[in-house]
This record gives sequence, structure tokens and C-alpha cells, in this order.
Amino acid sequence: MKVTGIQVGELETNCYIYRDESTGRCAIIDPGEMNDRLRAAIEEAGRASFDYILLTHCHFDHVGGVSEVRELTGAPVAIQKHDAAGLRDSGINLSGYFFGQRTIYPPADLTFDDGETFYVGETKFTVMHTPGHTVGSCCYITEGLIFSGDTLFRESAGRTDFPGGSASEMSRSLQRLMALEGDYIVYPGHEGVTTLSRERVSNPYVRWFGQNH
Ligand SMILES: [Zn+2]
Repeated sequence: MKVTGIQVGELETNCYIYRDESTGRCAIIDPGEMNDRLRAAIEEAGRASFDYILLTHCHFDHVGGVSEVRELTGAPVAIQKHDAAGLRDSGINLSGYFFGQRTIYPPADLTFDDGETFYVGETKFTVMHTPGHTVGSCCYITEGLIFSGDTLFRESAGRTDFPGGSASEMSRSLQRLMALEGDYIVYPGHEGVTTLSRERVSNPYVRWFGQNH
């Protein structure tokens, strides 16, 4: 497999293109905004090779490019079921809060529940519902990789003070991630890539929540 990261938008969201090497099938994770680099990466992968547009949650900085990517690729938009409504609500997707633009996004074509699985080419992905940053935040997990959205960051975690956020849910979600067996490369929604083994020992939120909840 191959993961390409492209920073998009004013909040420097990490959009990722995952490619299953054996089949060339792809998924795009969190197209927060369309830009030239993202368009070039989609063209390079092949517009018709995308099986899914995967959203880790409904915030505008993760979903702003969904219409254009959907138009280019024809791939279905997927999100955890509890965040589907947020795509259509500018108070929840925060487009009004940050820029005063009350934007709604295309509805999801598919919604996932916790533990659901799907394939990109021959690679199996599992959805882990990880509420805390939003009610329907999720992580997409496959062989050795986690796309963690705004749940887990390198030595940090997502804010829990937006609508639908919950510090206690975040605590449970981080503990669930940490309890996965073995090590994973973690591709977060903002800032740098990390590993689960590193976060188990160095993430202050994981340690704080672990001690206090
Ligand atoms: Zn967010």
C-alpha cells in the first residue's frame, strides 16, 4: 500500500490518498479543500480508481472539497452515521463558526457504524467509532495504519469544546485506540504522522485521560 498526504485549506488539514498496490484501487480521506496539488494527485492516481471518499468527521476543514472530489471521481461519500447530519448543518460542521460562511455539503452516500468493514481493492478497512471531537468521529483502520482524523494527533488530541464534543467520550476513544494490539502508523487530520507505540508513551492526553477517567 501507499499513502500520499496533501495539506489543504487554511487550517492545513491533512488529506490522504490511500492506494491498494495490488489492484491500484484508491480511497481519499478528508478532502478538506480542493487545490492544485490535490487535483494533480487525483489525476495521477486515476479519477476512476477511487472506491470511496472517506470522512473522519463532518467539520468543514475536512469536507470542504467533497463536492469537487465526488464530481471528479464519482466515488461515494462515506461518514460515521452520527456525523452525517453535520454535513447538512453549518452550526455543527463549523463553517459558520470559523469563516461566517454557512455552508452545507453534499449528503453522505454511505454511513458506517462502529466495527463495519469495507474493502479498497483487496485491502480490508475497519471503522472504529471514536466520538469525543464530534459525535460521529471515526478512525479508519487497516493493516498497520490508522487514519485518525481529529481524534488522535502526534502528542495531542482533538478539541472537545465544539458542538457534539465530549471530553469523557474522547477519553474512551483514545483508550480504545491505545488498546489495539501491536503497532500502527497513525495518519492524523492535522500535523505530523506518528505511531501508536509512540503515542502510548508520549501523548499527554492519553496519559492524563488514562489517569483521571
Ligand atoms: Zn475537526
